[in-house]
Amino acid sequence: MIVCKKCGYENPDNALYCNLCKELFHKKEKKMTIADLPPEIKSQLFDQKKKVEKGCAISSLFSDVPQKKLLTIAIIIGAIIVLFLFFFTFYK
Ligand SMILES: [Zn+2]
Repeated sequence: MIVCKKCGYENPDNALYCNLCKELFHKKEKKMTIADLPPEIKSQLFDQKKKVEKGCAISSLFSDVPQKKLLTIAIIIGAIIVLFLFFFTFYK
């Protein structure tokens, strides 16, 4: 149960605010930040982050633009196929 700090009213555990005075209950959900982590894990994370950033940089160099080009080519080829299909179905 949550006892309201403002008025002392006893609210159920799942109450988001006091049922009597409508005071909001701020549940202490401390967000974990990198600063809270132990130094060993922090350095490991930073290493991983660097690897990931490097990987992203490389993959964005090698996959981003070609993927867009491939998509454009695929659309063009698809359009040509559709046009051919239309052509052959109407001019038989
Ligand atoms: Zn209250």
